[in-house]
Amino acid sequence: MRTPGLSENFYKSIQQTPGIFLTKGEVTNVSKNGNTLAVAASNTLLGENIQVNADMVVLATGMVPVTVDDPVVNLAYRQGPGFRDNAIFNGYADSNFICFPYETQRTGIYAAGAIRRALTVEESVEDATGAALKAIQCIESVNRGVSVHPRSGDMTFPEFFFQRCTQCKRCTEECPFGALDDDEKGTPKPNPARCRRCGTCMGACPERIIGFADYNIDSIGSMVKSVKVPSSDDYSEPPMRILGLVCENDALPALDMAALNKLSYSADVRLIPVRCLGSVNVIWIKDALSQGMDGVFLLGCKHGDDYQCHFVKGSELASIRMKKIGEALASLALENERVAQFEVAIDDYHTLPKIINDFVEIIEGLGPNPFKGF
Ligand code: SF4
Ligand code: SF4
Repeated sequence: MRTPGLSENFYKSIQQTPGIFLTKGEVTNVSKNGNTLAVAASNTLLGENIQVNADMVVLATGMVPVTVDDPVVNLAYRQGPGFRDNAIFNGYADSNFICFPYETQRTGIYAAGAIRRALTVEESVEDATGAALKAIQCIESVNRGVSVHPRSGDMTFPEFFFQRCTQCKRCTEECPFGALDDDEKGTPKPNPARCRRCGTCMGACPERIIGFADYNIDSIGSMVKSVKVPSSDDYSEPPMRILGLVCENDALPALDMAALNKLSYSADVRLIPVRCLGSVNVIWIKDALSQGMDGVFLLGCKHGDDYQCHFVKGSELASIRMKKIGEALASLALENERVAQFEVAIDDYHTLPKIINDFVEIIEGLGPNPFKGF
């Protein structure tokens, strides 16, 4: 019995209808019984084996999505002709089902109906209205030269300083939306119409040659440099300074909600918003630590099974980069614990003070950064 959505009410109402018999059980056999059929079942609600005579047997088959990697749409993307190259949604095509229903990882293509999740025909018809409205918004935004979503209205595109490109292909491989093709040498070929301005390519580039006019390595680097680091003999401020790089999609609004609810956390912390944790370049973390900050944490959306990242895999890529940051910390003779990443959903705001204060406590246990004051 499958009753998605409000069909549950229908299911409950027919449970009360005389003449309708419902039971839970495993069908063990369907056989001919004269002009009728006999259905045998075990493990029923009563724990008995039963047999029911029936005029007709209808088998309910489960809905199984065609994998989104299936080349039915035959798109021209370096990751393949399907909607996208990973299956976080178990084969359904959606890029963030919570905040951005209908959007796929293929900019300009919107999913409606059973390609998004198991839906009835009526729900699919309603769903198609939402997808059509999204498609209209997309065409209008493209006509105005602005980004489609989620950063709708943004007019900047990633710019590349190709003279210093080493053709390492990190940007082309990590772009969640397949917006970067590459030539035969491996030099990225931007495709602005597909770009969603997430900055993941900027976070990935080891040469730091990707940036936006309004968001780049230097602009955030300057914000990091402007954070005052109190020296241990400066008693006008607490001696610890901890930097938080905060995703503007969920984590920053969650901090706002914490403030609205008058929740407080350590005053040693300074926060800088970023487009997505995927856009965080490790150079910002190295700079913060080498200028004497005692710890750095990243605050962003959940990834993995309970994935909520607005740019599909930005927070996951950040966590992979953070695992590799140990070498950089070792070269500065600093402990791994000075850098951490935390995941929050937008309604997790009440957990933020504890998350932040626990991290501050760990840093206080490690003691001041030895670079402080140099
Ligand atoms: S900004 Fe995001 S979508 Fe655009 S090219 Fe870079 S990684 Fe791809
Ligand atoms: S990540 Fe940077 S260096 Fe590597 S291919 Fe892309 S632009 Fe070139």
